[in-house]
Amino acid sequence: MSDEPLLREDLIQSSDDYGISLPEWLKKCIRQVPNPIGECCPADSEALLASAFDLAFRLHKGQFRVSGDPYIVHPVAVANLLKEIGASPKVIAAGFLHDVVEDTNISLDQLEEYFGAEVRGLVEGVTKLGGIHFPNRTEAQAENLRKMFLAMASDIRVVLVKLADRLHNMRTIDALQPDKQERIALETREIYAPLANRLGIGRFKWELEDLAFKLLEPKSYKQIQQEVVTKRSEREKRLETTVKSLKTRLIESGLLDCEITGRPKHLFGIWSKMQRQDKEFHEIYDVAALRIIVPNLETCYRALAVVHDTFRPIPGRFKDYIGLPKPNGYQSLHTAVIGRHRPIEVQIRTPEMHQVAEFGIAAHWKYKEGGSPAAGNTERFNWLRQLVDWQQEEGGSDHNDYLSSIKEDLFDEEVFVFTPKGDVVGLRKGSTAIDFAYRIHSEIGNHCHGTRINDKLCALTTPLNNGDFVEIITSKTAHPSLDWLNYVATPTARNRIRQWYKISHRDETIQRGKDLLERDLGRTGFDTLLNGEAMKRVAERCNLKSTDDLLAALGFGAITLHQILNRLREEIRLQNITTLSSEKEDEIVEHNISNQQATLASTKSSLKSSPIIGLEGLEYRLGGCCSPLPGEDIVGTVALGNHGITIHRQNCINLESVPSARRLPVRWNNSQLSQSNKFSTQIRIEVIDRVGVLKDILMRLSDNGINVSDARVQTSSGKPACIDLKIELRNSEQLMLTINKIRAMADVIDIARTGLN
Ligand code: MN
Repeated sequence: MSDEPLLREDLIQSSDDYGISLPEWLKKCIRQVPNPIGECCPADSEALLASAFDLAFRLHKGQFRVSGDPYIVHPVAVANLLKEIGASPKVIAAGFLHDVVEDTNISLDQLEEYFGAEVRGLVEGVTKLGGIHFPNRTEAQAENLRKMFLAMASDIRVVLVKLADRLHNMRTIDALQPDKQERIALETREIYAPLANRLGIGRFKWELEDLAFKLLEPKSYKQIQQEVVTKRSEREKRLETTVKSLKTRLIESGLLDCEITGRPKHLFGIWSKMQRQDKEFHEIYDVAALRIIVPNLETCYRALAVVHDTFRPIPGRFKDYIGLPKPNGYQSLHTAVIGRHRPIEVQIRTPEMHQVAEFGIAAHWKYKEGGSPAAGNTERFNWLRQLVDWQQEEGGSDHNDYLSSIKEDLFDEEVFVFTPKGDVVGLRKGSTAIDFAYRIHSEIGNHCHGTRINDKLCALTTPLNNGDFVEIITSKTAHPSLDWLNYVATPTARNRIRQWYKISHRDETIQRGKDLLERDLGRTGFDTLLNGEAMKRVAERCNLKSTDDLLAALGFGAITLHQILNRLREEIRLQNITTLSSEKEDEIVEHNISNQQATLASTKSSLKSSPIIGLEGLEYRLGGCCSPLPGEDIVGTVALGNHGITIHRQNCINLESVPSARRLPVRWNNSQLSQSNKFSTQIRIEVIDRVGVLKDILMRLSDNGINVSDARVQTSSGKPACIDLKIELRNSEQLMLTINKIRAMADVIDIARTGLN
């Protein structure tokens, strides 16, 4: 910081000497504050503005713009533009100071010391935005760039300053080199003017558009400008008579406080209309339009009735932007009528609506700041917070739509980064280079090996920030890791990683399963055993489709080697028993059945209430091996010994060893089954291990009316988790529906019915 402070008139005089003229409001501020820079964090707005100017004035002293003007001309003009659109003192202060950090040797910390954290934040934001360079891209890219711009400005007020900065730079662009002019004009047309439009700052938008138009299409600009000028007197005369007759009619109808103005359209607006509708200048009828400002909402519609009554309305041209405001908050009634042989466009709105149309977001803010009960506190909150708070306070008011659309538009949960070619990619917040790689192409994702973010080598799991340039390094031998699921934010990446795991991991896991088995069984005769019937049946008993599935399950760790070996032994033993089964055994069985019938019939309850037909009152149990459910074909078996009847599924593997004499034909008694009859069965679900997946599955089950009586989870790192559930439900249909729903869950690798132990 240089020199001792300047005093009031000295500061103004010194600016004068320097060749710049200060706006009156600024001179007034300076006069009211004896020693502008004397105190830290000035409390009242005059002191803040005077001090901000004072500091900017001294820091930029000796610096000049390309035009040769003293540099301070620019920050003063920016602050003045912000003042005009009704921005708050802190924003205007930031306007004075927006270039000091970049162009002088003051630090942000020093700035915070003088003006507090908020002004520092605004200046910091503007400085940061200055660092983004927009590559010249297509239409679609422009939208992403605008979004990125907004996403990077955590505080929307930063964008206000940036827009004012751009507007003044465009006003003074003549001093620059032609190629630079063109780049800046293009950027203005594609990024800044639409941004001003989105924030509803009509005044900035029109001027930015016209300035860019003048530079980019100089011929068309001049032509339209001339036409507008030559037709001016004729048009003005016509407008005048129209205004007069309308005014009389409005007064006759009791609408005394209406203000009618004729306004010329801005040139770029006329030109884009000509382009859009492929028309010549003289075919564009609403080159000029009438604007009627009425005191309140109700009179808007009354004035409309008068307009339609005075002139003949053009069908299809009436638009009610009051009932249905534009997303940027714009409200007005629009209509077109035939007046004096020429069509004319009419806009009707209240003064508040007019403010919003001209100043957009800034006007809203100003209104709300004054009107809100928390007015004294507003500066403490950031702007988004205020939006949200008001939204809650206001309940069902008409600001609601405006506020929520602003929020949706501007605070998308997105992060925007560049590809090496300069294309913009929008990703979910929290995305990493892995998400980025999968967004570019699934093969790039599947083979990404490393990343360079802003030319620095980084871990693939590094979270991306707005404006990062991201380059992916691929390698043929690289492949995804299950761990990545913990580092990705986009569904695309998540699904692709899973897909890859399911498909390309399968061979590996099958091989791993094979190795495990072979190690135990020995090489001799292994292939024969592997391809044999017994192995196939073991797979079926585990509810798996093929031997490969069985091996994969072993490889995953979903089934233990021990379990397979046990079943394999049983299968080989059963095969031998079946071939040995004799008539003698059948005799014993039949004898046993009659004995059991005698004892059980007396103890058993009435036949009618049984949910199974064909038992003749015998005691029964549902086989734990296959847990049959209503809806499935079933068979009863009579055990050797006094155990009553066991009900199996028709395709239960255990039935094969039961001679036909011991089988009872039975079926479900549907009329006896009610909603409250619940049956128990077991399922096994293989999932990609992540926090909360069990909870998600249990919720899905309970949503489908299924009770869970037991749940066991096995996990081991790097492998899918295995969830065994004992569930209670009504019938097989309910089970199938539920299985399909669970199978559709993103984290589920496989689901099968179990219960063969
Ligand atoms: Mn600037």
